[in-house]
Amino acid sequence: MMNKDSKRILILSPHTDDAELGCGGTIVKLLGKRKKILWIVFSTAEESVPKNFPKNTIKNEFLEVCKKLNLGDEQYMIYNYGVRKLPDFRQEILEILVKLKKDFAPGLVIGPSLNDYHQDHLVVANEMIRAFKSSSSIISYELPWNHVTFSNQMFITLEKKHVTKKLELLSSYKSQVIKNRSYFSSEFIFGLAKTRGVQINAEYAEAFEVIRWID
Ligand SMILES: [Zn+2]
Repeated sequence: MMNKDSKRILILSPHTDDAELGCGGTIVKLLGKRKKILWIVFSTAEESVPKNFPKNTIKNEFLEVCKKLNLGDEQYMIYNYGVRKLPDFRQEILEILVKLKKDFAPGLVIGPSLNDYHQDHLVVANEMIRAFKSSSSIISYELPWNHVTFSNQMFITLEKKHVTKKLELLSSYKSQVIKNRSYFSSEFIFGLAKTRGVQINAEYAEAFEVIRWID
């Protein structure tokens, strides 16, 4: 078993694009600080691909994101559970995470919120806490369209270049942008980062809920 290392950060994304939307600026900032990131995606959402796109479209879009971040093959893992099917595989997901606790021993885990009402997101949030509650700091990213409430307990400050890069990463998801999802828009991404920045007198920021903080 590896010793826990605060430089190792595990990012959990129920579907491709969740982590970019929730903490894309933070990921860019952490990579700039040479943190060791391992990014797990549980579903490539084949069911959400528009009709005239190939089934592996969203997986390829995520690989494009990894390329834009210069991630090595060992820095991400992609699983192929079906959309809205993660609750059926709760135990498997827990076992994946428990294995990562041993093999990667992250100091920090960043994943979805317990206040996220998407069933797949909620499963990952719960299993994340079950797996890491006594070993790692755990924070949850914000996806405002999925929350009834969200506590802005922790902020990670961002510079304009981080937010610009976040937007560039999201532009890889052409199959989603084409659906005119407003949360992929520059106006929204900069607007939310500015809002969170204003709350802490910074230029830009991303907000997080704190589940556990261990130092
Ligand atoms: Zn999602």
